[in-house]
Amino acid sequence: MKILFQHARILTMDDQWTEYTDGWLLTDGKKIAALGQGDVPAVYDEMIDCRGGILIPGLVNTHCHVSMVPFRTMGDDCPDRLRRFLFPLENEAMTPELVYLGALYGMAEMLLSGVTTFVDMYYYEEEVAHACIEMGMRGYLGETVISQKTPDSEQPDGGLAIAETMMKKYSGHDRVRPIIAPHGTTTVSEEALKKSHRIAAAYDTLLTLHVSEMDYEMQYFADQGTTPIQYLDNISLCDRHLLAAHCIHATEADIALLAEKGASVAHCIGSNTKAGKGVAPMRDMARAGISFGFGTDGPSSGNTLSLFDQMRLFAVCQKTAYHDRSLFPAREIVRAATRGGAEALHGMDYGILRPGYKADITLVATDGPAMFPLYNPYSALVYSANASDVSLVMADGDILVRNGQLIRADLSQLRQELYQAMGPFNRAAEKYADMI
Ligand SMILES: [Zn+2]
Repeated sequence: MKILFQHARILTMDDQWTEYTDGWLLTDGKKIAALGQGDVPAVYDEMIDCRGGILIPGLVNTHCHVSMVPFRTMGDDCPDRLRRFLFPLENEAMTPELVYLGALYGMAEMLLSGVTTFVDMYYYEEEVAHACIEMGMRGYLGETVISQKTPDSEQPDGGLAIAETMMKKYSGHDRVRPIIAPHGTTTVSEEALKKSHRIAAAYDTLLTLHVSEMDYEMQYFADQGTTPIQYLDNISLCDRHLLAAHCIHATEADIALLAEKGASVAHCIGSNTKAGKGVAPMRDMARAGISFGFGTDGPSSGNTLSLFDQMRLFAVCQKTAYHDRSLFPAREIVRAATRGGAEALHGMDYGILRPGYKADITLVATDGPAMFPLYNPYSALVYSANASDVSLVMADGDILVRNGQLIRADLSQLRQELYQAMGPFNRAAEKYADMI
């Protein structure tokens, strides 16, 4: 099937920053066949008039726990809530059904905000895989490895076996890309971290974990005269497989290490600042040449799964932190949300609007009140646009959102199904009422 997009402001995100002000783009099956301006192709099956909307590569969310929708707005202002009620409540009340329905809902939210690819870390991760296939997104899915009891394993580190089973089952799958996701530097034993890395290397996949994020984590390593990132390097985890989430407190030496070893970073400014944890030194990481993308973190950490929120927060926090208005021009921020995220995941066949690349496309309408006038489309995307401006989303050649509506699912129905399944979860949450 050949689909022709016409009358679009196309931002290709290629090496030359090529733009077409009244451009067209032709897809053929799963790939982009051609794009340009003037001389529109005559052969196609369907034509979509973009009415001057901005066409960009599908957005890439590099860090999420998509199934945590039931936790959204729960104890947002509660210090140390991870240990005080999140871990306990997960163990008591998280079920495969909730993970599946939460994933469907969260993916609907991501698609409606233009995300086509995401990285996930959670329990019952195979349920997320099922949801991913149903919704048509590309998911890098990592079963959590943690050295304690979890919702889906009585044994510490039970996630290792679950992750490896997923590696075998989904090897070569186009949409579901299994990865390994040890939880963090202080929540996973050294032995389990090393085993996780062996699995990542054997299957040539990503290893993602929370790192350099928590105050107690920093203190724990400082007491030993080191940092979490240096510890990861000491145990041979710091290499091209590593997708380090957060890195808020990365030192100059940590940054040099990540750059030298080819590790990439998932930067989650929304969740980091909401929790008062700090602003990661992204200017210095970018200067060191580290690949990075934006992550929303889970719906309970960042509250929205919209990368438009992340782009804007990234801009204002970096400029403020370094006291420099010229830092990270808007087009670099749009690049990080698209191509940068793809590069951080070693996804080298999407993230750019270029012939031969996967047809992952997001169309942002420009008829919303904040989208006029439009001197600089990159600025409009970073500072003016909202998730609700996304009008069409295509992933791998399939149209998943059209006219701002999901094609494969009904949002109100997903919400109703999730709500009905949340009864036991809500009852279990009652004992934490003083915190939430
Ligand atoms: Zn996280």
